[in-house]
Amino acid sequence: MKNTARFLSEAIDLARANIARGGRPFGAVVVKDGDVIANGVNEILATNDPTAHAEMTAIRAASQALGSPNLQGCAVYASGNPCPMCMAAMRLSGVERVVYAYSNDDGEPYGLSTAAIYADLAKPFDEQLMKIEYVPLRPESGSHLYAEWKAANASNRPAAALGMQVVADRCSPRRQR
Ligand SMILES: [Zn+2]
Repeated sequence: MKNTARFLSEAIDLARANIARGGRPFGAVVVKDGDVIANGVNEILATNDPTAHAEMTAIRAASQALGSPNLQGCAVYASGNPCPMCMAAMRLSGVERVVYAYSNDDGEPYGLSTAAIYADLAKPFDEQLMKIEYVPLRPESGSHLYAEWKAANASNRPAAALGMQVVADRCSPRRQR
């Protein structure tokens, strides 16, 4: 609990500093093996990048620091309730724990809740606000895009092994090639 409070406080301090810079009130830190390995703040206004949420910038920095897209063993401490984009990105990257200090209920009076988007995304595609279409276009050759990918990797080495190789290479920054 002591560490949880410490890491959350760090995320909140980042959010507060971001407010002072004219940014939105969100900060996040990524922790691995008890240490903060990266942090981030909401940079959407400064960068015009709508995906530059605090959790996104933090996990991007963590991936670069680790030299791997795999954030297994990492925890993210965020000042605010992560939005669906950030939650999915953390899930996809292997983050194992997410802790946040301000909930969507806390953010609602300030227009800082993403509860409505969570609710909409939980509906079937054809009931969601954004129009989503499945158009099964296939190459004229008749080949299957994913089968091509599998074949391309099989002729080299198994996809899983390839992934391991890439991760291993990037984890050895001092290796001379
Ligand atoms: Zn987000």
